[in-house]
Formats: sequence, C-alpha cells, structure tokens
Amino acid sequence: MNLPTKDFLNNIKPYQATKDNLAYRMDANENPYDLMEYLLEDFIEKIRGVAINRYPDADCEELRKLLGIHNNTNRENIICGNGSDEIIQIIINTFVGFGDAVITHTPTFSMYKVFTTIAGGNNIEVPSDEEFNVNIQKIISAANANQAKIIFICNPNNPTGFCFSRNQIINIIEQTNAIVVVDEAYSEFMDDSVVDLATVYEKLIVLKTMSKAFALAGARIGYGISNKETIERLNRVKPPYNLNTFSQLLGMTYLENLSAITESIVKIKDQREYLLHQLSVYEEIRTYPSKSNFILIKTDKASKLLQESNEAGIALRYFANESLLENCIRITVGSEEENNRLINVIKKVVG
Ligand code: PMP
Repeated sequence: MNLPTKDFLNNIKPYQATKDNLAYRMDANENPYDLMEYLLEDFIEKIRGVAINRYPDADCEELRKLLGIHNNTNRENIICGNGSDEIIQIIINTFVGFGDAVITHTPTFSMYKVFTTIAGGNNIEVPSDEEFNVNIQKIISAANANQAKIIFICNPNNPTGFCFSRNQIINIIEQTNAIVVVDEAYSEFMDDSVVDLATVYEKLIVLKTMSKAFALAGARIGYGISNKETIERLNRVKPPYNLNTFSQLLGMTYLENLSAITESIVKIKDQREYLLHQLSVYEEIRTYPSKSNFILIKTDKASKLLQESNEAGIALRYFANESLLENCIRITVGSEEENNRLINVIKKVVG
C-alpha cells in the first residue's frame, strides 16, 4: 500500500493490551474488587432521565466539582480526560513542538514516550540504576542541558515501584524550567501526594486516575490538577466532549460513596504486604519494595513462572527482554484468593 507516511512514527507499534481470557487478571494494575454491585442503584438513579441524544457536558462541571472536593482543590484547577492517558497526550500536545525535549526516567510507563514521539518531540531517557533508583541530579542536568519542555515523574513508578520523596520533586521543579508532570496513578496506595503543591508551583501538573484505586478502569476517567492558567492552556488542546455522559455520572456516583473505595484500598494494601511477605521466602526471587498495588519481581525462572501461571489461569505482566527489566515480572496485587493461587504456582516453580 502506498500510504502517505510520517517517518518518525515508523518505530511505534500499536499498544498491546492483553487479549487472553485468563480468569485471574494480575497483569494490568486494576482493582480486583468490582464495587459496582454496591453502587449500581445509585448509578441507575443518576442515569434515569439523562438526555443521551445530547452531547455530554463538555467541561465535566459536576464531576470536576466532586473531584475538587476530593482533592481539596477547586474545579478550576482540574481538567478531565478519557483516562489519564488522554491527559498525558493533551499535556504533550500543549507544550511540545517538533524536536523539543521531554525527560523521562526509565523504565517507566510507556505512554509518555509514545505521545512525545507522535508529537514529534525528543524523549530523553534517564536510566535508573540496577536497583531501580532514580538519580534526581541526572534528571535535572538532562532537563537543563536540553532545555526540556516537560519532565515526567511517575510516583510510585510503574513498573519498578520506586517512590520519589516530596523534597526530590520540589528540587526538580525548582532547579529546572520544565513543566513537571507528577503521575500519581497509584498514589492512593502510597498515602502520599504532592497535589497540595499543584496550585503553589505554576510548573507542576499532578495526574490522577479513577482506573486504579477507584476500580473504574472500564469507565476511562483520568484528570490533571494544576493552577488555573495551566488548566486553561490545556483546555485549548482538549478535544470537546472527551468524557462521555455515562462515565461522568459513574465517576460522580463513586465519589459520593467513598467508603466502599477506601475499604477496598485497605484490603489491597493488606494483601500487598501478605504477598511481599510470602515472596520474601524464596531466595530465587528478588522482590522490590512496593507502596503500590503491584509488586515487581526478578527471577531467572521468569519465563517458567509466567508459563505456569498462565496454565493456572493467572495473567501476569512479563517484560521478557525489555531494557533494564530482563527477567522481571510485575504482579498486580489481587484478591486473597488470586494471591493464594499465585503463591501456589510460585511454590511449584521455585519452592
Ligand atoms: N499512568 C500510569 C503510571 C499508569 O500505569 C497508567 C495505566 N496503566 C496510566 C497512567 C493510564 O491510566 P488511565 O488512562 O487508565 O487513567
């Protein structure tokens, strides 16, 4: 086929979402508990009378109001997206022109690089050390040497679990001229956040999602928090009507029923500690500390472990030969039943 091409996109591959139909999903960092059964009546009440022949609220006014209350800020400080993936793309499209530098620490979440490449930007990667520690000074130097437009900080980092301290983030903001995006997709499991700084530093944007702790991955609700002027800039790039009516109402339903979500977070944190403890028994498995809903492990038996897990109906995220992540597997903390199933497989492979 003789299609017109954009040569700099040649190396991008379509995102590979898992399609296998394994029963136990411990690969995508979702919340294992579907809270819909508790909240369905409230949701139905909300959608009764909705005029679905009309476009959704383009500005997600009511949802942003509730997100503002939840994050101790105002709706003017929030932009909603079709998942935080879309907010990442909007931020990049707002600030990155052809050849502009965007700094990431690696390994990290893949979409920062993908959207930078699509925008024609130049992703400069600052590799972590063997223990997956990120060198803050190297991030600052790379940003300043390349006049970076954006620095992405993933906290806690997917997939390594590395956590940045508040002071490290402040240093990055204060010692560079770049927009600093702190992706807090998993912060509810860490009990720490720099959301309060998002209105203090005009260069800071904090990214949040309802896909993880809020158990709403299927609804695609992500958002960014920043000062009013930055949000106004992002709104110029945001597609209209990007968040559909049902998702807006579902997000509101969940925000009005926080206790179900808080309970599930407590269960996931308990299960994370349980899994970490169980995994620590095996010399052949190296576990990395986690303040998230996933645990990264490294073992020479990674491919065998993946195969046996799949045979037992468990999906895991295997990084095969990805740079810096050889022999690593990311385990999403599941329900007690799922975690015990996995532990049994692990016993079989390395016990
Ligand atoms: N940021 C990080 C660090 C993630 O791991 C993910 C999802 N895997 C996202 C953003 C995107 O989440 P969503 O688009 O579902 O909000």
